[in-house]
Amino acid sequence: MPDVGWGFIGASTIAREHMVAAVRAQPGHDVVAVASARRERAEAFAAEHGIARAYDSVHALLADQAVKAVYVSTTNERHCEQVLAAAAAGKHVLCEKPLALSVDDAQRMVAACRDAGVVMATNHHLRNAATHRKLRELVAQGAIGRPLYARVFHAVHLRPLVQGWRIDRPQAGGGAILDIVVHDADVLRFVFQAEPVRALAMCQSGVMAREGIEDGAMAVFELDNGVLAQVHAAFTVPHAGTGIEIHGDRGSLIGRGVMTAHPVGDVLLRDAQGEHAVPVVHENLYAGGVARFSEAMRGAGRPAATGEDGVRSLAAALAVAEACRTGASAPAGVHMRPLSDAA
Ligand code: NDP
Repeated sequence: MPDVGWGFIGASTIAREHMVAAVRAQPGHDVVAVASARRERAEAFAAEHGIARAYDSVHALLADQAVKAVYVSTTNERHCEQVLAAAAAGKHVLCEKPLALSVDDAQRMVAACRDAGVVMATNHHLRNAATHRKLRELVAQGAIGRPLYARVFHAVHLRPLVQGWRIDRPQAGGGAILDIVVHDADVLRFVFQAEPVRALAMCQSGVMAREGIEDGAMAVFELDNGVLAQVHAAFTVPHAGTGIEIHGDRGSLIGRGVMTAHPVGDVLLRDAQGEHAVPVVHENLYAGGVARFSEAMRGAGRPAATGEDGVRSLAAALAVAEACRTGASAPAGVHMRPLSDAA
């Protein structure tokens, strides 16, 4: 019996490729159950990963006494209901981004977990990248002077394996904004320790995604520290490469190849002394997230991205969607709901 048994809600690609191993990398943690809407998918996933129990309902998984924490990685429209049920069952919750399809639902999820006294975290994995942690540290130390601008390069080509609902089911919360821009907003919040206040944006669709679902977006956020941040996110661009640039009045930081699921990429500092490589020690982004979640469960720390972070980053992404729709700037901040407002 592991110290911490995890129940996986969702027999998903991210669970298969990253999260089973991330949980098992944590001493005393194991995945003991998986639930899928389809029994055969749950059973196949369990067999593939040596998971003891497979369920065809979330409620059956939540009734499993060996499950202390759940990881929710179903399609986006299911996160809210499943997290509310997990909180009601007293399970700690690590939920995929975007937390929900609306800020209101996301706030209900956070409030329900707080009221139930369970830890809630959002799987914004990029906060666990050694590169992003170094960028945050250098910005805070004043390495570039006063931060003024950022540019996030996150135009990628969506693998056929994960195209599905992302490009053809608007009701599942597909599209590049909820899939990618939400991460970019979270990275900006993390690196600058500042909040987006408004967004301007334009979108593209119909290249890969069904007409009406954006498969690319260009946005500009204004942050509450005065920084202007440009974001380019797309499903349709195979050769752009990813990265982030942060420009201040005394220097610039360049993160090359860093907007990814993998522990790769490098950081450069360019200033009056020239260009210097900044050393980073890479570590698995998802294992790092589970490690921090585990500390929070022991009452010894905070998750890398809390539920509240998930709400704020979702609000920023939805502001981009709103700005695309209206052509006007949209407010990107959010007032967090007080406790005991989960109804
Ligand atoms: P998948 O499409 O692989 O899985 C999502 C759900 O689709 C599964 O839970 C499953 O439902 C269903 N499903 C899986 N395989 C099939 C199939 N063959 N036929 C029909 N339905 C199927 O999604 P991803 O793993 O790409 O994404 C899942 C979640 O994780 C999303 O919220 C996404 O935003 C997030 N994500 C986060 C990442 C990160 O780095 N933080 C990276 C990638 C995704 P059921 O469980 O009912 O079987």
